[in-house]
Amino acid sequence: MKNSVTDTLQRPLRDLRLSVTDRCNFRCRYCMPEEIFGPDYSFLSSDHILSFDEMERLTKLFASLGVEKVRITGGEPLLRKNLPGLIERLAVIDGIKDIAITTNGSLLKKQAGALKQAGLHRVTVSLDSLDEERFSSLNGNRSSVKRVLEGIEAAADAGLQVKINMVVQKGKNDQDIIPMARYFKEKQHILRFIEYMDVGNTNGWKMDEVYSKQEILNRIGQVMPIEPLSPNYTGEVATRYRYLDDGQEIGVISSVTDSFCSACSRARVSAEGKLYTCLFAADGFDLRNQLRSEKSDQELLDILSSLWNHRKDRYSDERREGKTSGSKVEMSHIGG
Ligand code: SAM
Ligand code: SF4
Ligand code: SF4
Repeated sequence: MKNSVTDTLQRPLRDLRLSVTDRCNFRCRYCMPEEIFGPDYSFLSSDHILSFDEMERLTKLFASLGVEKVRITGGEPLLRKNLPGLIERLAVIDGIKDIAITTNGSLLKKQAGALKQAGLHRVTVSLDSLDEERFSSLNGNRSSVKRVLEGIEAAADAGLQVKINMVVQKGKNDQDIIPMARYFKEKQHILRFIEYMDVGNTNGWKMDEVYSKQEILNRIGQVMPIEPLSPNYTGEVATRYRYLDDGQEIGVISSVTDSFCSACSRARVSAEGKLYTCLFAADGFDLRNQLRSEKSDQELLDILSSLWNHRKDRYSDERREGKTSGSKVEMSHIGG
């Protein structure tokens, strides 16, 4: 029997983001700056990360509380061995209607077919520039634009729905907005611009590096006129637009200047099995211990329901009200 839980602000639990590894083959400055995530950084050992059995069990429990969508993330999720094996197990869970992955795309070309076959529906590929030199400096000199674009095309050819995420930082890659918009308009892939966020404690975020939703829309609109589209569903993270000439869709995710906490229905589980009810939470609840104890499914369900019932997170709304402070979980632990 499917239950439904709501938090203190009457927000239901609908989406689960599962981080399958804390490791990454990139060192994007805004997420895993090299000077902190260097050769001496100690990543989780394999017995500290959730096994596929544990993730499957958790997903079943979340599904029975109303979760319909699962997004696999990282670190870089395609580094996790035999990821299609996990997707296969999640795709058949009762109540799960949609499985997506967020990836840097560098390993996608090889894996796209197997992921689709395993039951993956959608892939979001992160790409912040089409300029090889700038891309390289943004991701810590790893991989190439060419390789990521090949990954994107392989995913589309395999029949996966593809979206592209571009984090825009003022003075770093805002000059790439138009080239990216043109390229993906032509390719007919949905491009979503993301405002640079103050996630974690290591990226040295400053408000004046945020290129706002309005600035993004103005810049595009001056060259390629657009009009707003209505949301696909309540709680959709991106606001949607389409080009007037060909109808191709784009989106903007404006967590900083136009936050959307009131409709946030997402739970995040880190690779080590901690539950975070907000992207900006200081700490999470250790589910791994619970999973490795003798607790029954019902006991775990009671814990999850109670955690969600008590949830009152609204960090981005508070940021706009000038109220935030304190340490936050790193983005590479919970994957965005
Ligand atoms: N490695 C995968 C990737 O890059 O797609 C998945 C994990 S990554 C943490 C998930 C998303 O978070 C990416 O689209 C990335 O660009 C975004 N991200 C990371 N740090 C960010 C920040 N400070 N502000 C906004 N988005 C950020
Ligand atoms: Fe890796 Fe993704 Fe973070 Fe870049 S954004 S460092 S690709 S986890
Ligand atoms: Fe959800 Fe927290 Fe982001 Fe608000 S700040 S939308 S509560 S994850």
